[in-house]
Amino acid sequence: SKNAGRNCFHIYSAELKAEADQRNVLEIELREAIWRDEIEVFYQPVTELGTGRVKSVEALARWHHDTRGFIPPTEFIAVAEAGGLIVELGNQVLTKACRDAMTMPGDVNVAVNLSALQFAGSNLVDTVTFALAQSGLPESRLELEITESVFLADTQENLKTLQRLKALGVSIALDDFGVGYSSLSYLTAFPFDKVKIDKSFIDRIDRCETVAVLKSIVQLARTLKLTIVAEGVETREQVGRLQSLGIPLGQGFFFSKPVPLADLSWQGPGARRR
Ligand code: C2E
Ligand code: CA
Ligand code: CA
Ligand code: CA
Repeated sequence: SKNAGRNCFHIYSAELKAEADQRNVLEIELREAIWRDEIEVFYQPVTELGTGRVKSVEALARWHHDTRGFIPPTEFIAVAEAGGLIVELGNQVLTKACRDAMTMPGDVNVAVNLSALQFAGSNLVDTVTFALAQSGLPESRLELEITESVFLADTQENLKTLQRLKALGVSIALDDFGVGYSSLSYLTAFPFDKVKIDKSFIDRIDRCETVAVLKSIVQLARTLKLTIVAEGVETREQVGRLQSLGIPLGQGFFFSKPVPLADLSWQGPGARRR
């Protein structure tokens, strides 16, 4: 009946309001956490499959909430993006990552995730230049990870920014490759240095359809002269399959979970001594 529908609407909107309130609270608390510099950075190794050597580490933001405990980045990054906090949060992660990388072996690069929103408005190129200068990190040791979303809005502006970043001497990786719409065209849209194949492909690497897709990605990567990282590698069997496909680098729980700087170790499982 009409009445029942109206009640439904009331319940629905009350739920929506509760959800919105919770989001606002989280946003306010996140703003405070950023202000108090409480966002931590963990690092996850990217390992050369053939040697077990750590080639780079990915910086991943961590927020330990006073009362709610660990809040996953997938949640608070979205809140930061919606609340206009992502630029400040991104700057903090970048600054810490560059500083921390100076304590790592000189042949280990550090990768930092960029939100598409960091491209809009803010002066990303200056921010990156400043973080490098302030830390003393050579630009060749910094990798910036972006997703296809960077190409969705303001394509020409964002492309220009990407080119200016690359001109600084940092390298650019296309993250979460394969989960978007027309990934192959994005690969050719910019001279990326690296492509990170999404975990969903690695999960299904025992299927022949997946192997076929990965083979064509490997071939394309060779043509475009970019290197490949497999994300979300969890088993030794996956490592074997990746190696037989000619994929040189892997990242995932098989090697290490993301850990605090102090807990990083430079030799993964199955590594030969340097
Ligand atoms: P991402 O950039 O794709 O990062 C990889 C995510 O996969 C990380 O999740 C990592 O912990 C997880 N992962 C790595 N290996 C494995 C594995 O073997 N198994 C499983 N199940 N998961 C694995 P995390 O740290 O929760 O971050 C989630 C996402 O949040 C990131 O995905 C990235 O999109 C975003 N994020 C994290 N830190 C930042 C940041 O500083 N800035 C921005 N813009 N985004 C960030
Ligand atoms: Ca990433
Ligand atoms: Ca990824
Ligand atoms: Ca992701």
